[in-house]
Amino acid sequence: MSFDVEKVRADFPILHQEINGKPLVYLDNGATTQKPEAVIEAISHYYRYDNSNVHRGAHTLSDRSTAAFESARETVRQFLNAQFSEEVIWTKGTTEGINLVAFSWGLSNLKPGDQVLVSEMEHHANIVPWQMVCEKTGAQLQAIPVTEDGDVDLEKYRAMLSDAVKFVSIGHVSNALGTVNPVREIISAAHEIGALTLVDGAQAVAHWAVDVQELDCDFYAFSGHKLYGPTGIGVLYGKRALLNDMTPFMGGGEMIETVSFAKTTYNKLPYKFEPGTPNIAGAIGLATAMNYLNTFDRDDVVAHENDVLGYALKRASEYEGLRLVGRAKHRAGVLSFLIDGTHPHDVGTLLDQQGVAVRTGNHCAMPIMEHYGVPGTVRASFAMYNSRADVDALFAALDKVKMFLL
Ligand code: PMP
Repeated sequence: MSFDVEKVRADFPILHQEINGKPLVYLDNGATTQKPEAVIEAISHYYRYDNSNVHRGAHTLSDRSTAAFESARETVRQFLNAQFSEEVIWTKGTTEGINLVAFSWGLSNLKPGDQVLVSEMEHHANIVPWQMVCEKTGAQLQAIPVTEDGDVDLEKYRAMLSDAVKFVSIGHVSNALGTVNPVREIISAAHEIGALTLVDGAQAVAHWAVDVQELDCDFYAFSGHKLYGPTGIGVLYGKRALLNDMTPFMGGGEMIETVSFAKTTYNKLPYKFEPGTPNIAGAIGLATAMNYLNTFDRDDVVAHENDVLGYALKRASEYEGLRLVGRAKHRAGVLSFLIDGTHPHDVGTLLDQQGVAVRTGNHCAMPIMEHYGVPGTVRASFAMYNSRADVDALFAALDKVKMFLL
């Protein structure tokens, strides 16, 4: 393996600082990842030299912005191995992508008696939009049960599939448990009964190369900021034929062909779903993040991340008083746990005092917290720039937390 974590860390300026007098150990990558110098520089360069609105100006800067913006779309197409660049819709993140599908597809296609399936371990972003659309259409939202280990119960899922099921929306990786879901299997079973599928890829895209054609998902949503890119930019991939059949989610400039008070006609894909001035710098920043990731052999990244997470899991299993929440065998990026006799928030605050950044709480996944009967957890989440040394720092800091709290 030719992965040099120290060299990677050197690319991320923010990591090299002290927090509360201690070297920063950033383990909150599930919430957002840090940005490499190349991304920071690309955004700064864009605003310094090229800034202009896209698709409309009759001048050089606008041409440059448009070219960079559309070239970023092509980078995303390649990154996901989508067939057509118009299948790449810019959004502001995973949340907007899921809302777009739920409201655009769902409002026009769901009716009383229909069912939408999501799993019990979904992020609220993959529950609430469906719930809202089900309330409006009379369809029903059903939760696919999760096993004690934190896997989707495939047997129960198959039993739930019937003619009533019109849509299955599933997380690729759970942000609360770290479970990697067998999305390919879930998608093909859904397709067998004629249901459409969306994969919430927020926690997956940074970890390994996702191929939407291989998955055969109908939609795939993710956020740039969890992929070493900027906040406020994300992508919804959708199969062209489906997107063509869908009505716009939001109206405004750019998404139209002609407007009159009698009738408005819509623009072609992908612009039909991109009203208003887009996040141009964000798109350029995200494409730069993808290009940065592509400078590595993605298999080396996977091997390195698996090594760090495997080490963290081993240390967790040996750590007295630590209770892991979620024990799925196939997992990525996340260690969710509780320390007996302590509250997650207190643990998080005391870890921060030692320079260790984690997230505590319900991780926007209240139903799965309820499933485990816990108010929340401490979540350490890893990225490509984390190392075994960060895991050691976490457990050394936990020793001190225990001394203080217990
Ligand atoms: N789904 C999952 C699995 C997530 O982890 C997150 C972010 N925590 C989201 C959706 C929402 O992403 P965003 O806030 O970037 O829209």
